[in-house]
Amino acid sequence: EPALRIRDDAVERVLHNAGVIVRRFHDRLLVPPGVVTNQAGDPYVVYSPFRRACEALPLAAGLPGPVEPVTRFAAGHELAARRIAMLHELGFDEPTVEPWPAGAAAAHARLARFLEHGLARYDSERDRPAADAVSHLSADLKFGTISVRTVAHAALAAAREDGRLDAAAKKFVAELRWRDFYAHVLHHFPRCETGCFRREYDALEWEGDPAHLEAWKQGRTGYPMVDAGMRELASTGFMHNRVRMIVASFLTKDLLIDWREGERHFMNHLVDGDLANNNGGWQWAAGTGTDAQPYFRIFNPWLQGEKFDPAGEYVKRWVPELAAAPARWVHRPWRADAAARARLAGDYSERIVVHEEQRALALAMYAGVKAGA
Ligand code: FAD
Repeated sequence: EPALRIRDDAVERVLHNAGVIVRRFHDRLLVPPGVVTNQAGDPYVVYSPFRRACEALPLAAGLPGPVEPVTRFAAGHELAARRIAMLHELGFDEPTVEPWPAGAAAAHARLARFLEHGLARYDSERDRPAADAVSHLSADLKFGTISVRTVAHAALAAAREDGRLDAAAKKFVAELRWRDFYAHVLHHFPRCETGCFRREYDALEWEGDPAHLEAWKQGRTGYPMVDAGMRELASTGFMHNRVRMIVASFLTKDLLIDWREGERHFMNHLVDGDLANNNGGWQWAAGTGTDAQPYFRIFNPWLQGEKFDPAGEYVKRWVPELAAAPARWVHRPWRADAAARARLAGDYSERIVVHEEQRALALAMYAGVKAGA
């Protein structure tokens, strides 16, 4: 991240001026930026060839193992050791519950739980938000309470012990490489922090209505999968990857609202909020980023729901108004007749927009930019 590079350079300067020898070690990604380039010597801007190039590296460069923990720290300098501010000093209340236990021990416990209960189903069920087949390690990876090398090697070691886990472990490492990919993209194209990766889309004139942005944030759009995701985010600080893609596509391509609004809202609420991943995910969904199939990929929110949450289990967990809805219309309650809707507990919002209409508007909005480019 541009800001973190400035921070690290400043730390290095201060240490250097205090007479401390500084050596830097890459400890963030499986493959550091600059190691893989395409045949023209340029950075990859599409994920699949990037992943294949990383996989083709010699093992020590493409999938380096964990390193020994640091046990000796520099001594003999005059730098003051500053105390870390506590939450109440920053104006926050001390939490009474800890929804996301943090730190290295908690991260290792999450990894162990995933290896035991999630990995075997990762390949087949990781796209189902109700299945609990993913690792929930994103905040740990973001804050460095566990290293990506430790995580990748633990999954591959599990597969060596039990060959049936082989496909799942490979898939999991491939997903970890998305994190590498977006970090590389931001490293090589720091302008993405504020602008579109595909520059022509900086000219897009987002036509959305601010009231719709509010409804989206509150999980009151009338589209169950979208509302479930937004409510999960508000109450836990997490959202499943498939649902992140659905709500992001909906904000940009159904509500015609600038992806940066969604990116900011996510950053304010996600426990794993990470500039590179979040920006990359949003630009992918908005079609302004590195997706190989750009703007005409528009998710249909109810078909996504029916495919990845067929019984409506996830939706019902977060949208209790729909608890009594049958699977046949839980993802499109507007199809139910008035009597069936009346039997629901409480009022579920009407659709704030009609997907088919918005889809046409979105295609026209993007095509307008293409034509003018
Ligand atoms: P797992 O499926 O267990 O994956 C393991 C790890 O691989 C993740 O922890 C993550 O570090 C990495 N990973 C997996 N998928 C992706 C991906 N598509 N992009 C980048 N890394 C990935 N991830 C964040 O860490 N921080 C964010 O702020 C963030 N914002 C996102 C915004 C949008 C719009 C989208 C579509 C995705 C975003 N992601 C973000 C990526 C992804 O949704 C999360 O990393 C994932 O849901 C975290 O759950 P997990 O750890 O259980 O994932």
